[in-house]
Amino acid sequence: MLEIIQTLGPITGNKIAEKLNLSRAALRSDLAILTMSQLVSAKPKVGYYFTGRDLQQLNTMSFDAILIADTLSAPIVVRENSTVYDAILTLFTEDVGTIFVVSEDNFLEGALSRKDLLKAAMGGKNNNDLPVNIIMTRMPKIILTTPEESVLSAAQKLLYHQVDALPVVKIIKEGETTKYQVVGRFTKTNITRLFVQLAEK
Ligand code: ADP
Repeated sequence: MLEIIQTLGPITGNKIAEKLNLSRAALRSDLAILTMSQLVSAKPKVGYYFTGRDLQQLNTMSFDAILIADTLSAPIVVRENSTVYDAILTLFTEDVGTIFVVSEDNFLEGALSRKDLLKAAMGGKNNNDLPVNIIMTRMPKIILTTPEESVLSAAQKLLYHQVDALPVVKIIKEGETTKYQVVGRFTKTNITRLFVQLAEK
């Protein structure tokens, strides 16, 4: 598409679609990426034209060049023997959607989402007596990320596994066993913030 715009621009969306044998609607998301990355600009009634922006420059803007270490948020955790009541309170006071559950020595044990806690709250049991480790999703089922992973790859994990947040962990090997120290959280909000920052740049 960029080639067509470079050689034939300014060119209308309909004309580009015609050249590619596609519908105008099918081009929408790709055109949005090209305009957002400022490779292409659009003039009303005239069409799309190439801005002359260097393709190399684009790499510095891309999500796979940005690492989790550059964008993570502080981890919000509760201990595994905390009650569901404590976890719900934490959800409100810390204003988060997912809480990670850690052992006494601070290693990752599980995750609690909003719906996990909602389900427990509707269950009719006394939430002051119910420990979170009964209702949490537990290791080794937790999908993780590390400070060294790219934002793109972590975002793909969020989409693929259909979860809202990943714990950012430091991997600690002790002989045969591997433990995960929680050093942060990476959520859909981090991606939205990054998206806006990149777009505004
Ligand atoms: P919600 O359940 O509020 O829609 P999620 O989609 O994030 O929120 O969570 C769906 C389920 O996945 C929940 O049962 C939760 O315990 C679990 N979960 C949350 N985060 C993770 C994760 N990083 N890895 C694995 N499971 C997770």
